[in-house]
Amino acid sequence: MKEVLIIGGGVIGLSIGHSLSKGGHAVRIIERDPELENSCSSGNAGMIVPSHFIPLAAPGVISQGLKWMLNPKSPFFLRPRLDPALARWIWLFMRHSNIDHVSKSEPLLRDLSLLSRKLHLDLAREENFPLIDKGLLMLCQTQKGLDDEAEVVESAHRLGLQAELIGQSRIAELEPSSAINAIGGILFPQDCHLDPTDFTRALRQSITRHGGEFIQDEAISIGKDGIRTKTGATHRADTTILAGGISSLDLSHQLSLKLPMQGGKGYSLTLPKPLQNPRLCSLLKEGRVAVTPMGDQLRVAGTMEICGKDTTISKPRLQGIIESFCSFYPEFSPQEFAGLEPWVGLRPCSPDGLPYIGKVPGHDNVIIATGHSMMGLSLAPVTGQLIADLVDEKEPTIPISALAPERFG
Ligand SMILES: Cc1cc2nc3c(=O)[nH]c(=O)nc-3n(C[C@H](O)[C@H](O)[C@H](O)COP(=O)(O)OP(=O)(O)OC[C@H]3O[C@@H](n4cnc5c(N)ncnc54)[C@H](O)[C@@H]3O)c2cc1C
Repeated sequence: MKEVLIIGGGVIGLSIGHSLSKGGHAVRIIERDPELENSCSSGNAGMIVPSHFIPLAAPGVISQGLKWMLNPKSPFFLRPRLDPALARWIWLFMRHSNIDHVSKSEPLLRDLSLLSRKLHLDLAREENFPLIDKGLLMLCQTQKGLDDEAEVVESAHRLGLQAELIGQSRIAELEPSSAINAIGGILFPQDCHLDPTDFTRALRQSITRHGGEFIQDEAISIGKDGIRTKTGATHRADTTILAGGISSLDLSHQLSLKLPMQGGKGYSLTLPKPLQNPRLCSLLKEGRVAVTPMGDQLRVAGTMEICGKDTTISKPRLQGIIESFCSFYPEFSPQEFAGLEPWVGLRPCSPDGLPYIGKVPGHDNVIIATGHSMMGLSLAPVTGQLIADLVDEKEPTIPISALAPERFG
């Protein structure tokens, strides 16, 4: 049994806390914002996505991104600024946007996602909260979008994943009570969705039941003498785990780890009483919008603005999300979103689209787990499992050398 201190109680820190406390370790989690209002883990789209086996850094992403940069309502933006950290991130992103990187990453992302999906299902059963295991629809409005997705189906089959190219009649069969304006799409039957609030609540319950503790405070320094916090406390442990999302950068610098990571800003809007609720979650290909039914509510999320740590809300981009949604789900109109409070979150984005999971070089008792970008909720349980393997000094369940935090030097 080890004493483990986890900095950050978002989906990653909580999933690590769950795996470790269940495994008999004494866990303490330091979280400055227990309601997670300012973290990325509360208002996200709640999708569990084995379908996301292509990393963010992939061929075609840069040219598409450049086109989108000119449109203030587009789902992608990179805020230009004179910042060496941003320049390094862009350079690394460009270096990894190639076929070689994609083909090396796909089997790893598949294995991580499939194990994570299983662990998600186990947790939902054990803690008794709703997880909808019915699949995800990728909806397309253009032939070009559908052709691109047909290639994804081929890659999915090559990797042994389930994916079905579907037309309008199959969409209508899957969504009998929702009008959908799409020419076709893909059904990914292995994807699932949940309400992230149910997920984080269940993790907290499990940690508390297994003897874990929560400390509401902010870690401000990390070193040989332990963790010092804003309230003046010092905490020591056998192992410290840095799982602070985008804020992990501040403490990792103190450990001389030059982690390339940028905030990928996204927004969501949640309709409390939608006119109709689809059965399945969906991704709207041309608008890059995510749509998730959450109980009686409906969440619509999108945009990726590479923005450092800026959390200001771009009204045109928010409008872009609403317009895309209403064009795919024509029974809705933008007026229904009037007055809704937008949620904003910063995804911790690595430049190769893979998370950072591993020991911090030169600090044998410090482990980092961050950089999950668009897949933090999806990959949270497997991250918990892999960190438990490291703490237990066991061979990792899935080889993680490609996720080493020092991989960019
Ligand atoms: C619009 C949008 C939609 C998304 N949809 C999905 C989806 O459908 N599926 C999916 O898998 N992913 C999705 N994501 C991504 C996912 O939300 C993130 O990858 C994930 O939340 C990252 O979790 P985290 O725990 O690493 O970071 P965070 O959620 O940011 O949590 C980090 C926590 O650490 C705390 N913290 C940091 N530093 C300190 C410190 N020094 N002391 C104390 N506390 C500290 C913070 O307060 C915070 O609560 C989405 C993201 C966005 C923006």
